[in-house]
Amino acid sequence: MKIKAPLVMSEGTRLQNQVITVQNGLIENIEPASTMDHYDWELDPHSILIPGLIDLHIHGIKGHDVMDGTPNSLSMISKTLAEEGVTGFLATTMTESIARIEAAIDNSVYCQKNNRDYHGAEILGLHLEGPFLSTEFMGAQCGIHLLQPNPLLLEAWQKRSAGSIKILTLAPELPQALELIDTAKKLGIVASLGHTAASFNETLTAIDRGATHATHLFNAMRGIHHRTPGAAAALLMDERMTAEIIVDGLHIAPEMIRFIFQLKKHSQLVLVTDAMSAKCLKNGEYVFGGQTVILKDQEARLKKNGALAGSTLCLNQALKNAHQYTGIALEKLIPLATSIPAKILKMNQQIGSISQGKKANFAVLNQDLEVQVTMREGRVVYKKPGVAQSLPD
Ligand SMILES: [Zn+2]
Repeated sequence: MKIKAPLVMSEGTRLQNQVITVQNGLIENIEPASTMDHYDWELDPHSILIPGLIDLHIHGIKGHDVMDGTPNSLSMISKTLAEEGVTGFLATTMTESIARIEAAIDNSVYCQKNNRDYHGAEILGLHLEGPFLSTEFMGAQCGIHLLQPNPLLLEAWQKRSAGSIKILTLAPELPQALELIDTAKKLGIVASLGHTAASFNETLTAIDRGATHATHLFNAMRGIHHRTPGAAAALLMDERMTAEIIVDGLHIAPEMIRFIFQLKKHSQLVLVTDAMSAKCLKNGEYVFGGQTVILKDQEARLKKNGALAGSTLCLNQALKNAHQYTGIALEKLIPLATSIPAKILKMNQQIGSISQGKKANFAVLNQDLEVQVTMREGRVVYKKPGVAQSLPD
C-alpha cells in the first residue's frame, strides 16, 4: 500500500509531500512524492501524518480499568485509545491487594499475547504504579495496600509476567528501595521514582543506584522550595532522568510546564495521560482504585479529600496543550509522545517513528490536532465518523 501524505512529522522533523510504502504491516519505504506515482490512499491536503502515539501511564477509560483484570476491559481500553491516535500503551496498575495486582498482571499478559486482532492500540507491557510507595504522597493510591519494597516479590511478578513489566514506580526513601532498584535493573524494568517523600539527596542516591525515570513529575512528590529542595528539583536537574508530565492544565500549571521545558532537555520529557476509567464519562461518582472519585467537568478528585485522582486527558490533547503552553513547534513536541517513550521501553527499533523497517503505526491529525484516522501495523483501527478521508479498501 502506498500512502501519500502532504505533511509528515516524525523524530523532530517535518517533511512535505511524502509517499510511504507499507508492506506486511511495516514501513517499507518513505520518499518524496513524484508526479508519476500511483497511491492507494491520498491524505487530505490539510492533514498531518505522525507516528502512532505511545502512552506509558494509563489506567483506564470509559468505565474500564486495568485493575478490573478482565480481557473485556483491556480490549475496550485498547480500542478506545485508538480514538486519540494511540497505537501502543503500558497497562498501568494501581496499589491494591497483591491478589488484585496479580490478577491484573495475568490478564494483561494474556491480552498482550492475544491482542493481535488489531482492534485498537497494542499492549506493550505493564507499568506497576506501586505498591511500594510513600504513605505521605500516595495521591489516589489506596493506603491500606501500600507495602515496603520487596525485591523478591518484584522478581516473582516479573517471572509471572514473562518479562512484560516495563516500568515500576517506587518511592526511593523507603527501606530496601535501593535493593529494589537493583532488582528492577537486573530484570530489565525501568525504575521510576514517584509517589515519594524523598529529599533532594535521597533522590540523587536512587539515581546513582540506577533509577532512570520519574513518574508524573511534580505530582505526588515534594515541589520546589528554595530551602528544602525535594525530589522534583533533583529530577528536573539530573540529566540522567527522563520524566513523565501530565499536561492537562490541572496537574501542573501551564506556567510550570514552561518552566519544565526551560530546565529539562526535551529529549528527556514524556507526555503521559495517567488517565482513569472516568475519562470519557459523564459527571458523577465513580470508584477508582477502590476509592470513590467525583468527576466534574473533566476534573477527577477523591471524594474524601479532594485530591486529584488521575486525569481524563487524551494524549493528542496533551500534545495540543504542550504546544499552546510553550509555543514550541509541534514537530519538536511529537517525539515526547512517540520516539521518546519508545526509547524508554527499548522498543525504538520497532515503533515510535516513521522510518524504514518500523511498524506502520500512524495517526492522521487535522490542523486542530484532532485524530482523523489511526493505523496500527498497516490496518485502520480508528476512523473518525464523517471524516472524508478516502481510505483504501
Ligand atoms: Zn497513575
